[in-house]
Amino acid sequence: MRALVWLRNDLRLRDNPALFHAAEERQGVVAVYVLCERFVEQHETGPARLDFIRRHLAILERDLAERGIPLILLRVREAGEIPGRLTDLARHENCDRLYFNAEYPIDELNRDRRVADAFRAAGLHFKRFHDRVILPPGEVRNGQGEPYQVFTAFKRRWLQLASRLPMAPHGLPPEQPEGLGALNSRGLSLEQLFQRLALRDLADLWPAGEEQALARLSEFCDGAIRDYKAMRDFPAEPGTSELSPYLAVGTLSPRQCLNAALSANEGRWDGGNEGIHTWIGELVWRDFYQHVTVDFPQVCKRKPLQSYTEGFPWRWDEADFNRWRRGETGIPIVDAAMRQLAQTGWMHNRLRMVVAMFLTKNLRIDWRMGESWFMSQLVDGDFAANNGGWQWSASTGTDAAPYFRIFNPVTQSERFDPEGRFIRKYVQELAKVPGKAIHDPPPTPGYPRPMVDLKASRKETIALFKALHGHREPEKASES
Ligand SMILES: Cc1cc2nc3c(=O)[nH]c(=O)nc-3n(C[C@H](O)[C@H](O)[C@H](O)COP(=O)(O)OP(=O)(O)OC[C@H]3O[C@@H](n4cnc5c(N)ncnc54)[C@H](O)[C@@H]3O)c2cc1C
Repeated sequence: MRALVWLRNDLRLRDNPALFHAAEERQGVVAVYVLCERFVEQHETGPARLDFIRRHLAILERDLAERGIPLILLRVREAGEIPGRLTDLARHENCDRLYFNAEYPIDELNRDRRVADAFRAAGLHFKRFHDRVILPPGEVRNGQGEPYQVFTAFKRRWLQLASRLPMAPHGLPPEQPEGLGALNSRGLSLEQLFQRLALRDLADLWPAGEEQALARLSEFCDGAIRDYKAMRDFPAEPGTSELSPYLAVGTLSPRQCLNAALSANEGRWDGGNEGIHTWIGELVWRDFYQHVTVDFPQVCKRKPLQSYTEGFPWRWDEADFNRWRRGETGIPIVDAAMRQLAQTGWMHNRLRMVVAMFLTKNLRIDWRMGESWFMSQLVDGDFAANNGGWQWSASTGTDAAPYFRIFNPVTQSERFDPEGRFIRKYVQELAKVPGKAIHDPPPTPGYPRPMVDLKASRKETIALFKALHGHREPEKASES
């Protein structure tokens, strides 16, 4: 009997535990990818990310074939069709077990439970692995066995546990006996799989493939990682890895990233280079938010993690939201960031916090509108990181930024884009504004005046948070 491997957000050959174990334990492996139209809509998978996935599947199809593994592409309208389609496929292809890597948002967990039930009912087996995180949800607990709500405490425990474990990534899956191919099933072509879906090709910025991702990782770990602590907040500099799209669709595993960083630090968890430690800290943030989606599933239902913030009077103002979305707020750093997102499908982390705080704290627009917009635009859209980032910025989440700490976008701009290079790149209307005036420019033809008074709106938001019924102080915060 053969093995069926269901690929999802793990579009790679190396360090893919489901694929590796299937190929090692079985003589013959068939891989399948299922595109669910309902998930694409509901989870706001935007054109940039869909196209990134499409380009990865093209490469993966070729690379898997070279190892004797056919890739079958299926498309369903509803997730409810998946259990039946996969059990049928397993039967037709002589597969007696299914291998897959876990995904943690609630819809994905429910989908996988139904698939597991269907396999059980059909007398077939399934095996689930963890590749999306370095330490699986449930493993990082406080002394009372409870999940952490504060990042710094989570990180401390995470480091204790991770540094004791073997972290070597899996290699390539063993090659399969030749010539078996798909026996009885015909999947869709790549064109058919993505038919009628809006796609946006950003291949120049985000080339697909494991080789590309590994090359970026090793280039970063050979160079910029050492200055990461000092440079990571300056959007005009190439100070961060820009690996998030690859981590989001699983071209890279976080364990491969951790390993590369540790090697750059001569294998040391303590001491060595500070930039490397800081970067490893970002991988821990990533794990943290994945854990949160499992431990606090209300966040998957568009609810705030801090229930006391449920009654906050967010606004749903389409006109103001559209100005933010289009980068026409009249606040240069916000507009430059929103235009970076529109042009590249990506935004620098410092700016994600700045624009999210501006939307939620100055415009007081519901963070869920911003969260959805990001998901639909980002090539690295990832539910856990995006929801975590938005709830952090809106002060509704774990490790909530205390509501009285509200970034002033102009001060952020002065600190992190001191010469205005980033602003001038994306907001061409301001190209001629001289020197420091770029951060808070005088009336300039073609560029709007600030759409909101930063000081007054900040005061109003703080007062509204204070007035929340049943208000309690959020736990001590730490900044990303
Ligand atoms: C409002 C908001 C929304 C966000 N949405 C997403 C999203 O949809 N997808 C996404 O991958 N990240 C998201 N982030 C986190 C962060 O902004 C990006 O991961 C980072 O900018 C990616 O750039 P990089 O690869 O150069 O990161 P680096 O600085 O090189 O960090 C390395 C990796 O660590 C992870 N990481 C870094 N910071 C965070 C963080 N704060 N939370 C979780 N993981 C982190 C990412 O996988 C990143 O690739 C969001 C942050 C905020 C504030």
